[in-house]
This record gives sequence, C-alpha cells and structure tokens, in this order.
Amino acid sequence: MAAVLPTLFLSHGAPTLSLDPGATGAFWQKLAQELPRPGAVLCVSAHWMSEEPLVSAPERNETIHDFYGFPEPLYRMSYPAPGAPALAERVAGLLAGAGIANGIDRSRGLDHGAWVPLRLMYPAADIPTIQLSIQPDRDALWHDRLGAALAPLRSDGVLVLASGGAVHNLRGLARQGGPVPAWAQEFDEWLAAALAEGRKAELLDWRARAPHAREAQPTPDHFLPLFVALGAAGAGARGERLFQGFTLGSLSMAAFRFA
Ligand code: ZN
Repeated sequence: MAAVLPTLFLSHGAPTLSLDPGATGAFWQKLAQELPRPGAVLCVSAHWMSEEPLVSAPERNETIHDFYGFPEPLYRMSYPAPGAPALAERVAGLLAGAGIANGIDRSRGLDHGAWVPLRLMYPAADIPTIQLSIQPDRDALWHDRLGAALAPLRSDGVLVLASGGAVHNLRGLARQGGPVPAWAQEFDEWLAAALAEGRKAELLDWRARAPHAREAQPTPDHFLPLFVALGAAGAGARGERLFQGFTLGSLSMAAFRFA
C-alpha cells in the first residue's frame, strides 16, 4: 500500500526565485527528495481564481507566464508536466460528492504559483499535474471544505500542494530588501504557532483573530490555498513549519507540512 502523503503549503515568493532560487529553492529541492515520490500533483495556486471551483484537465500543461515586467529569461521557462484528465474527473467527483458544484477546464495550464516551486521540486516535469482554483470571495471555511473533500487523494499517491504566501502584502515590500517589519513577523509567528497547536477555530477566523491580519494579507488570495491543504490533511490536522524566512522585507517564504 502506498504511503499516505502529507499536504503542503509553500510560499512561492516572486517569479524571480526561478532565476535566483536561494535558500527557499534549496529547501524545495530537499523537500521533494525527502517526500515519497507522488504519482500525481494537485496544485492549489493563489494565481487561479474563479467564482466556482475549477479543475484543470489538459492532456499536457502549457506554461502560463502570468506576471509582467520581469526579466526576459523568465518568459522562456517552461514546465511541460503531463496533465491528468482522469484525476481531474476524480477531483470533480469528490467535490460534487461533498455538495460543491464545480467545473472542469480542459485547456488551462500551470500558472507560476504552480510551476515556480514544481520546477525546482521535480525538474524532470514528469509527474502528472493538475490545478484546482480558489474562490477569493469565499472564506477560509469554504476552502477548508474543499480540502476535506480531497482528503482521500492522499492515500492514492496524490500530493496536494497549496501555493501562496504566508505574509503577502505587495504594497508592503521593500524592493531593495530591509528588516522584517514587526507586523509581518508577528503574523508569521502567529500562523506557525496556531498551526502547530491545531487551533483550527482561530485559524478559520483569521481575519478577526490574527494579529495584523489586514496588513499581512490585504487580499486573501495568497492565504486561502493554505486552508485547502489544512482541510485535506483531515480533522485534527496540525501544521509543522518546515521553512521560515523573509524576502523583500515583509514577504514570508514560510512553508508548512500538514498531517
Ligand atoms: Zn504569487
């Protein structure tokens, strides 16, 4: 019987991480080597948003360069992982079975929230990969429900990989670098502690209960994927912080493993 995979939340940082992987990239490479090799990856990226959940199901993934004004070599990078149409159908069925209406998108490829980490984790691009969209107008509880519906995938060799940002305020970045502001540090530490202790009710109510929530996550898109990974890890799951660090002042690169 295959090992039950943990679920992950990775902070993907800026697209330029692909050119300069640094400590975060080295961590992603090591993480992939330590995990059992997945048969497929379901990525929940901050960069695919839709009103209702959509599951991607191309035969082969196009590489989406969904960023502007970055160095030209980034636009030539590709990550042509095979798709997994049958897995996409299964994901759609699991969501429907949990009463969550959803759709399948047969042309959508991989956005940079998916391929920036995956390119370093699995550079051969040979693991079938699909994505599930997030719903920015819905709350943490909704995304936790999405994750809970997907929990059976973990024992079938599917890696549920959520990709966003543990602290993500683009207006609060120091482009030339600089000290980590207190609001970013405090939110980052609150998150790690709440996940380690499994304080789920508090986590789901993060907008009201986390310190500096509005400053740390002015829009929820980079935070919501975390709740899918948390939900998919099952009731009573806890999150272990595997990596911590900041870039551009306040941009957290924290990573968590849920089990
Ligand atoms: Zn992003």
